[in-house]
Amino acid sequence: MTILEARNRVGGRVYTDTHTFNNGVSADIGAEWIHAYGVENPLYSLHQQLQTNEDKQDDHYFDFDEPEMTGCYDTTGSIVSRQTCAKAQYIIDKLFSPKYNETLRVRDVSVWDIIRPEYGKISEGQIKRLVDAMLIGIEEYEATDLDRLSARQTFFGDDEEELDENMALQRGFGSLIQRIFNRFALPVQLNTEVTRIIISNSDRVQISTKNDETIQSKYVLITVPLGCLKQKTIVFEPALPQWKQNAIDSMGFGNTEKIILQFDETFWDWNFTTFYIAGASFPFAICAPKKRILVFTIGGTRARHMVATKDEDTIATILRDLRRAFPNHTFKLERYRISRWTQDPYARGSYSYYAFNTSLETFETLARECCHNQLFWAGEHTSSGGSVHTAFATGQREAKKILQRLKIK
Ligand SMILES: Cc1cc2nc3c(=O)[nH]c(=O)nc-3n(C[C@H](O)[C@H](O)[C@H](O)COP(=O)(O)OP(=O)(O)OC[C@H]3O[C@@H](n4cnc5c(N)ncnc54)[C@H](O)[C@@H]3O)c2cc1C
Repeated sequence: MTILEARNRVGGRVYTDTHTFNNGVSADIGAEWIHAYGVENPLYSLHQQLQTNEDKQDDHYFDFDEPEMTGCYDTTGSIVSRQTCAKAQYIIDKLFSPKYNETLRVRDVSVWDIIRPEYGKISEGQIKRLVDAMLIGIEEYEATDLDRLSARQTFFGDDEEELDENMALQRGFGSLIQRIFNRFALPVQLNTEVTRIIISNSDRVQISTKNDETIQSKYVLITVPLGCLKQKTIVFEPALPQWKQNAIDSMGFGNTEKIILQFDETFWDWNFTTFYIAGASFPFAICAPKKRILVFTIGGTRARHMVATKDEDTIATILRDLRRAFPNHTFKLERYRISRWTQDPYARGSYSYYAFNTSLETFETLARECCHNQLFWAGEHTSSGGSVHTAFATGQREAKKILQRLKIK
């Protein structure tokens, strides 16, 4: 077995920056938390086994959406009371638990189509501006705009919500991937971009790389991101069957980006894990107070717009809004880093989302082997969840199938 990896590193959309920030602080540019942390999670036991004593002290659970740990600020500089913040969260919860809509039986519509009537009833003011901030936060989590997200699947699909226990790694998620890579001495060939896969009737698949290398293989497991499949960065000969291509085209592949800022002081409330800023262009931040870091995240059209904007302009916009929201603080920005997964040639976006008329079945079609049963498919987009552990599980799923074919136990 050989793993052909285009980048000069392992990890893909898991990447920890250990150079940019002061005091040797690490920051995850892509995935940050092991979601659904527990015995069922294939990364749980690996994380436990490969933790040092220091990690055991520092790795910790991270709480999202805990009302008492979620802050609210306002670009007008006015104080947001706990009640106002809680009211905005309550409105969001209500908007996102709609009653079944008969239209959905006939045709799928967007999440925005469903929530718009109730949203329209919110009167202007601070609460509405906070609700807007929270909706932008949801677009970041979903990696797409609410008017592109399937209502049928988001509200009435059979996915399990997995955000319960989130493990944050002090040395970054990338350090765990590196430890797994070292521990199992994985046979990875770096700097090897696959450009063409030829499936003939013989019992060998031919793989060509950008370095003009040709590799023959009995079976191929394709794990490149859905964004790369959509943009046809690998040419398949003959072309993929229509049912596979349709699934690639119809499943959504979204955008979510991070703007990571390190300050000279922690000027926000130390108790908050996240906060919203009413009226801000980047209204949602994740807090790392010990590192003096705020991570602003943004999704969908806003993310695509951000990556097309100069770094200095994005930073100036965020600092302007922060100075308005915290008028009595004189903080200074020390370091920053902005992700650009949307433009990354080996990602071309962040993770999958349910576009209209897609369902769990679309993921299953993306996972199904094809082409004389020589091409296998794994990766985040071949099961629901959009996470590292779900992507990891798809690799295990396909590896088992291939071992069975090879009659290896
Ligand atoms: C900003 C952001 C935040 C996220 N936060 C979280 C989080 O907190 N927790 C979580 O669980 N998930 C999170 N995710 C999602 C998670 O990162 C992905 O679901 C997961 O990493 C996908 O793993 P994968 O193996 O399917 O794909 P990848 O990690 O993208 O691996 C695919 C590999 O294929 C390589 N490749 C691409 N094209 C070629 C080619 N032509 N030839 C050879 N190699 C190629 C790539 O370089 C890459 O290494 C986040 C993602 C983003 C972008």
